[in-house]
Amino acid sequence: MKRSRVSIPQSRSSFLSIQCKECGTQRVVFSASNTNLNCEKCNTLLLESTGGKALIHADILKRVD
Ligand SMILES: [Zn+2]
Repeated sequence: MKRSRVSIPQSRSSFLSIQCKECGTQRVVFSASNTNLNCEKCNTLLLESTGGKALIHADILKRVD
């Protein structure tokens, strides 16, 4: 009997540690943020608000619980 597949819950918002693809600056963001977020060093858009789960334009390093 197969066990159900374990996956990262998509519906639960969480904090994520992300890294800017341009300059490598790391920061922690809220995955359901309702505001856009730019890198404080190079001003690259890191997180884009969609009204629901935000789009992340940076490398996601890990979840922060
Ligand atoms: Zn940057």
